[in-house]
Amino acid sequence: MHPTIRLNNGVVMPALGFGVFQTPPEATAQAVETALRTGYRLIDTAASYGNERGVGEAIRASGVPREDLFVETKVWIDDYGYDETLHAFDKSTRKLGLEVIDLFILHQPLPTAFDRTTGAYRALEQLLTDGRVRAIGVSNFMPDHLAALLERAEVIPAVNQIEVHPYFTQSTLRSANAAHGILTQAWSPIGGITAYRGDETRSTFTDPVIVGIAEQHGKTAAQVMLRWHLQQGRSAIPKSVRPDRIAENFDVVDFELVDDELAAIDGLDTGVRGGPDPAEVTLEKFSREIPEN
Ligand code: NDP
Repeated sequence: MHPTIRLNNGVVMPALGFGVFQTPPEATAQAVETALRTGYRLIDTAASYGNERGVGEAIRASGVPREDLFVETKVWIDDYGYDETLHAFDKSTRKLGLEVIDLFILHQPLPTAFDRTTGAYRALEQLLTDGRVRAIGVSNFMPDHLAALLERAEVIPAVNQIEVHPYFTQSTLRSANAAHGILTQAWSPIGGITAYRGDETRSTFTDPVIVGIAEQHGKTAAQVMLRWHLQQGRSAIPKSVRPDRIAENFDVVDFELVDDELAAIDGLDTGVRGGPDPAEVTLEKFSREIPEN
């Protein structure tokens, strides 16, 4: 059985999901259909990925009952502010072909325009009250952003989706999430970002510690990393466009890591993030218009 997690508002979600960042729009429906056929029931997309339509297409083609699915999408920073974010919800639901989003997320804090961020969050709270979303969350919020949000918010976010993989474990931020009852959902959970962006000399997929543990269990490095997340209570949303890897990343419930193995993976942390520093995300640098259709 694949594990589920109960969010702080009682909603239950699958712990393991499927991500589509950098999946080209024309390849998205097929990747998501493959994932749904494989058994994934949690799909993570975002307005800024430009592929919500493909996700919706795959959901409709799959025949999986809507109530069995957990669909997440994210508001991009150009659409922050109360009215703008309500409108962003309409854009995303139109593209996805869904009435209700299971988890609607603020993609980034905007530290230099935090009023717009909190305005956007108030829109999420309104959508929750109106039953248009089942849970609300944030992404890439550091402890200070969370504290500033919680000073003004009525609803504690259910989820903070952040970069977590063996080379960037973010233990301080994970503790801050936990202290507030916020679930940590790991993006780049198998260290994809270290492979496609950063250090070419070091990859989680060939790391000797991870590969050594994988060999002990007759599993792959990716499977070991996903197991590490699940056993530590996190949600994880690996991405692939390859059917073999989509299946591999889902095949993670038939083995168990022992405490020493979990600790050895924790010990690989470099303290160096692969993604942008959330403190430095501004509209000036990261603006991207989200089309109506
Ligand atoms: P992942 O850690 O999921 O790694 C994905 C990369 O690894 C891809 O290049 C993929 O290539 C490759 N890969 C996938 N499975 C395997 C495998 N079993 N063995 C070897 N290589 C593999 O990184 P992502 O950055 O994609 O993160 C996952 C998801 O998290 C995203 O899709 C998105 O939904 C979310 N995300 C959110 C962010 C945020 O700011 N909130 C930022 C970044 C990601 P291939 O497709 O060719 O298999």
